[in-house]
Amino acid sequence: MGKATDFRYNTGATKVPWAAVGENYNVNDLMEIIKFLMQGEGPEYEQAIQAVRAQVEKLDQFSSPPGKLSLASKVEGAEEAANAYLGTDTSTFVTNATAGFEIAYKYANLKPGDEVIVPAITFIATMAYPLSVGAKLVFADVDPRTINMDPADVARKITPKTKMIVPVHIGGYPVDLDPIMELAKKHDILVLEDAAHAFGAMYKGKKIGTIGDFAAFSFHEVKNITSFGEGGIATTNIPGFKDHMKRARFVGMDFSHKIKDWLYDVSAIPGKEEPFVAVNYSTTEIQGLGLSLQIARNDAIIAERRAAAEYLNSRLAGCDALILQDLGNEEIKPTFHLYLLQIDPAKAGGDVQLFKKKLEEKGVTNIPHFGPLYRFRVVEQMGYDADEIAKTCPVCEEVFYKRFTHLPLYGLTQEQLDYMADAILASIDEMQKGV
Ligand SMILES: *Cc1c(COP(=O)(O)O)cnc(C)c1O
Repeated sequence: MGKATDFRYNTGATKVPWAAVGENYNVNDLMEIIKFLMQGEGPEYEQAIQAVRAQVEKLDQFSSPPGKLSLASKVEGAEEAANAYLGTDTSTFVTNATAGFEIAYKYANLKPGDEVIVPAITFIATMAYPLSVGAKLVFADVDPRTINMDPADVARKITPKTKMIVPVHIGGYPVDLDPIMELAKKHDILVLEDAAHAFGAMYKGKKIGTIGDFAAFSFHEVKNITSFGEGGIATTNIPGFKDHMKRARFVGMDFSHKIKDWLYDVSAIPGKEEPFVAVNYSTTEIQGLGLSLQIARNDAIIAERRAAAEYLNSRLAGCDALILQDLGNEEIKPTFHLYLLQIDPAKAGGDVQLFKKKLEEKGVTNIPHFGPLYRFRVVEQMGYDADEIAKTCPVCEEVFYKRFTHLPLYGLTQEQLDYMADAILASIDEMQKGV
């Protein structure tokens, strides 16, 4: 006997607690899920799977399904874990970081003509929403050392129409937020931190993602930790908005009030200037469980990544054509999501395009994250002129086309790290010799 757990069908204890709501997962489904998460082949694998199946069938006789699969205790558990980790009380688990950004953008009541300053180098998701509603994107040039938004260029590009600034902590390296927060305060601009890579990064004693007015972290499968492939945590520092984050996630449902003869009310979410209508970015209990488990080991994961970055730096330190990953300091603690490797083209005897090719030839995957955003066709299709924007972002043009690439840092053996370091040094050597 399970217990009824869904408010719509709270009829007391029942044999089929959830039947009127939806199908649960059975033994067969569970076995497929196990086989998906733990893949293999061959007789030993098949034998182990058969043994697990026998045990799961037995377990099935003594267990009941969860009462809820969406937005319940496991999602809350993930939010509590994120709150404790970040030192906030506003963590809201949403479908992905992009959805988290949307909550912030909607709070800002973005309209055509409003300006949003984004870095020239980031993932397109950072700016998908403002682009989709016809707000004007203004591209800030990047700091050549970190590839992050350059606060000095942000200052130059603020106009009376600027409504938001979106610093992106590329590769988990914290943006210099103090000058950006100061500019924002002075001009009454909202700051949204794109902390997709930066869960656990620190800036001057505070966790990244707790400094701007809003922030969102990503738990997509390629980030440092994941919630079964998709997921995001959104946070806010707007005192009056705290209580609306959860409603902004789920269609504005409002249980503090009921309409006549119905269970709840739905109300608009207060924005900065006017209310907005919420849509649905809900997450599942399985995702919540997956996120809690990985948050618990996030610090150990960052430490392992850091050790790999330190090792690569030690191996590459003697080569003056290379500019190595900045390891941070007492005030700046990155998450080492990626290893940012740059070359000095004058000393290397060629630019990064040649260097990337040489690394590829040696089997070392390297991918610069990301290309200049204004080069994407969607930006042109929305009426922007890439070449005109490029003139306002000379550092971006220089570092992307001539200087930087990214290397992976996680789950590599000592042998693989050495292979990478050897390949990097050999590539520079070949370039310098012109072979
Ligand atoms: C991955 C990523 C995002 C988007 O995250 P989702 O969770 O996939 O929406 C946004 N910004 C940057 C810099 C990213 O790398």
